Amino acid sequence: MKRARILIVEDNPVNLKLASIILEAANFQVLEAGDASQAREVINTTTPDLILMDIALPGMDGLALTRLLKADEKTRHIPIVALTAYAMRGDDEKAKAAGCDSYITKPIDVGKLPDQVAEILGRSDGEHKRSV
Ligand code: MN
Repeated sequence: MKRARILIVEDNPVNLKLASIILEAANFQVLEAGDASQAREVINTTTPDLILMDIALPGMDGLALTRLLKADEKTRHIPIVALTAYAMRGDDEKAKAAGCDSYITKPIDVGKLPDQVAEILGRSDGEHKRSV
């Protein structure tokens, strides 16, 4: 079975490495980007099966990048999961408005992240945009 390819877009290197290690340990293939321009470079050469998208990024933020990807025929099918800060109320609504398919609140739960990602991947095989 093909390993699902997950792109993590996160500017905090510790958070990025943590999520990456957890998902690799759960047998996902992980791609990393520290900002929107790096993410776009990755997506130009490789199509991820799912994107974990930090909202607060230097330069173009995660919401703007989500809008771009969802406006593009080549990338609109890729499920985007917003990483929203628990303390930032309203981020989930903003993520939904920008086109995110789902969201996970930070700090991420290392025990749950692989199952959360697998669940969203399974859901995206069928119906898109069922819940945020
Ligand atoms: Mn950030």
